[in-house]
Amino acid sequence: FSIIKDYDPEIYDAMAKELYRQENNLELIASENLVSKEVIEVMGSHLTNKYAEGYPGKRYYGGCEYVDVVETIAKERIEKLFGAEYSNVQPHSGVQANMAVYFAFLKPGDTVLGMDLAHGGHLSHGSPVSMSGSYYNFISYGINKDTEILDYEQLEMLARKHHPKMIVAGASAYPRFIDFERIAKVAKEVGALFMVDMAHIAGLIAGGAHPSPIPHADIVTTTTHKTLKGPRGGAILCRKELGKAIDKAIFPGSQGGPLMHIIAAKAVALKEALTPEFSQYQKQVAANANVLANTLMDLGFKLLSNGTDNHLMLLDLRNVGLTGKFAEKALDQVHITANKNAIPFDPESPFITSGIRLGTPAITARGMKEAQMVLVGEAIHDCLVKKDNEAAMKKVENLVKEFPAYAK
Ligand code: PLP
Repeated sequence: FSIIKDYDPEIYDAMAKELYRQENNLELIASENLVSKEVIEVMGSHLTNKYAEGYPGKRYYGGCEYVDVVETIAKERIEKLFGAEYSNVQPHSGVQANMAVYFAFLKPGDTVLGMDLAHGGHLSHGSPVSMSGSYYNFISYGINKDTEILDYEQLEMLARKHHPKMIVAGASAYPRFIDFERIAKVAKEVGALFMVDMAHIAGLIAGGAHPSPIPHADIVTTTTHKTLKGPRGGAILCRKELGKAIDKAIFPGSQGGPLMHIIAAKAVALKEALTPEFSQYQKQVAANANVLANTLMDLGFKLLSNGTDNHLMLLDLRNVGLTGKFAEKALDQVHITANKNAIPFDPESPFITSGIRLGTPAITARGMKEAQMVLVGEAIHDCLVKKDNEAAMKKVENLVKEFPAYAK
């Protein structure tokens, strides 16, 4: 970004510092990743200049013939990647995608089942502070207190009791596989639409490292910037007959002009996702998470459900006498970036929390493998338990130097 350096030194300075931070920190935020330079180039392109309200071949503006090509390719690639019948690649974000699905198929006040935010669900799955929870009558299911696994029996009981119009599955802080087939069965039994928000695990699903919801769900929403390793944005997949309603709910229902530079970057990321290397990467993300989880448990940390099947894990810090807020800050001091996270049945407030969420997508994108995960786990232990920041920093410095993010 050399042009901006002279023109806008204040923004350049903040951007340069952020790049330095990304390069020199171990990024363990489970919802983040590092996109390719190709994706970055397309995002920062002249495609941002184009208005293209509508869909390929049916636009409300002239001059759309080339952006039509871009959007058509993006749609074809995402449908091929996930084996879906229909797609909409215009959602500006994951929440936009979810809200559009609700707008397409629900009326205000309709009953919906969603996973409790406090148990790992997402704000847009019915939290009262989100539009989802204020417009629709969301009823929450959660995890079983003993097994710390999603409580499918509770979900089935709630579905039979409340006869929801829709069941939403998917999570932001749940470390285990979700049994989409089982939830689809009860949705069918009670006549509910079944929506899966696969935002966190989309990349794993694309790479064959997590079972796919596509054969079981009516509608699947996602973000494109988490494990999927694309630009910040959203997408919706569905059965063909639901496509028209979804398209209408995105435009004109809830968005204006699509971000064509972002849709082009989604297409580039999807091209990457269709390669065997991407599949390999996703399997490594999951393998790394497994090693990091086992390392942390060997060092005495307590993990929700005693491990992980996917890219993330949730540490319950109560047995080491720390809060999530404290741990997030302490780790930041040794250049490990993570986020505090409520654990199910958390006695602390959402601003303090008893947990911390860790994920492996970004460090795996730097090329780290199992051996490095042991060092990452030890660095976390050095910092939080041994209170030896020097030892933690040394490990972090060696890792980021050996596995650069962009400075290759
Ligand atoms: N859905 C899930 C499951 C998520 O975890 C998130 C983000 O954390 C979203 C949706 C929201 O995506 P966005 O921030 O792009 O609106």
